[in-house]
Amino acid sequence: MIERNKPVLLARINKMKQVTDVEEYQKYNGFSGLLEAIKMEKERILDELDLAHLRGRGGAAFPLGKKWRHLYGAKGDTKYIVCNADEGEPGTFKDKALLEQDPLSVIEGMVIAGYLFSAKAGYIYIRGEYRRIQKIFQEALDNAEKAGFLGENIVGIQGFNYTITIISGAGAYVCGENSALLNSIEGKTGRPRVKPPHLADVGLYLQPTLVNNVESFASIPVILREGGQAYRDLGTEDGGGTKLICLSGHVKNRGLYEVNLGTPLQEILYSEEYGGGTATGRPLKFIHFGGQSGPIGAVENLDDCIYSYEGLWDNDLSIGSGAIVVMDDQVSIVDYLVNVAAFFAHESCGKCTPCRLGTTRILELLTKFNTQTAVSGDLERLRKMLTHVTNLSACGLGQSVANPMRSGLTYFPKEFEAGIREAVAPIKGGFW
Ligand code: SF4
Repeated sequence: MIERNKPVLLARINKMKQVTDVEEYQKYNGFSGLLEAIKMEKERILDELDLAHLRGRGGAAFPLGKKWRHLYGAKGDTKYIVCNADEGEPGTFKDKALLEQDPLSVIEGMVIAGYLFSAKAGYIYIRGEYRRIQKIFQEALDNAEKAGFLGENIVGIQGFNYTITIISGAGAYVCGENSALLNSIEGKTGRPRVKPPHLADVGLYLQPTLVNNVESFASIPVILREGGQAYRDLGTEDGGGTKLICLSGHVKNRGLYEVNLGTPLQEILYSEEYGGGTATGRPLKFIHFGGQSGPIGAVENLDDCIYSYEGLWDNDLSIGSGAIVVMDDQVSIVDYLVNVAAFFAHESCGKCTPCRLGTTRILELLTKFNTQTAVSGDLERLRKMLTHVTNLSACGLGQSVANPMRSGLTYFPKEFEAGIREAVAPIKGGFW
């Protein structure tokens, strides 16, 4: 039975003596989701996932049931299962915790997918910086195979043959984009593909492919063990379950937490159970949600905000990866955004010109505001450049660069105006 306000995904953490040991995992409900799944008709598995209303935890928040149903109906003799564990988002460290401290839960979710789609091969793409975690995960894979949960005739089902292989990332942020990740697995340059076609139709090696995030896969066994409705009841109408959140920045209690979707944001920021306010006692100023490309909210506007998909959307915010970076009133929004822009200028893969050049131009302009060397007209230039990069970039990275900048311009316009050097004549004529 799962209860509200109790850990669900983190339930086993710090309990198991050896996190890669299958028997130890089974003491805490391990593999019971898979054992339930194999008793069900495959359509029923999909029904439970629909009922759970789990939104993909990688950032896009697409309903997972719909994605799995699409792949189920896709034509192709071979289907691949891919776990995106390329956790490179600054301020996000939730997948690391699951991979490191409960790897078998991720494996169980991937095995359930393998069973449902009759896949023969799964891949987990783990970021290169998690080298030590890759070893832990490999040990868990080896133990799962020895115990009959991977390999041939899994759990005694004749012909259920399925393996999972670890692929190490090489440090490119853009490989967190699913199609770039598949290119990287294939040995190609890790750059995004043009879409459509959807990866569920034409994915890895041009075959139908499921790509989900670590947290999403770890949630699957819970849903099949407890039932879709019970999982949904942990969250809200628009998004079932719990969410792993990564609190960082100026809150007193930084770290990884699991919250029910629907928890008041104020509770997350100020209660001692979670953020605990600031260590210095200074007021909080703004919050950057969901990763570098997520929007920013001004704390003073968020008194009634609920941490749920719809609750954040109502405030022009988004859950994204689950990162919650909190800054106090000493931080200049412009200075903060210079760091964000520098990140994107560095990580743009360079495939398309609007993103390759636009991210650098945005960084240059923000730096001018930050050093009080901006001139009249630079604000308009910045706004136009944000529009160009959003509208003309080929993938989600470029298309979402402008999100935090736009929030900054909306909520803290005076800080930008303060960066304009006085007594400088406006530039005449057009630009770019
Ligand atoms: S938008 Fe940026 S990251 Fe995406 S393909 Fe174009 S250059 Fe690469």
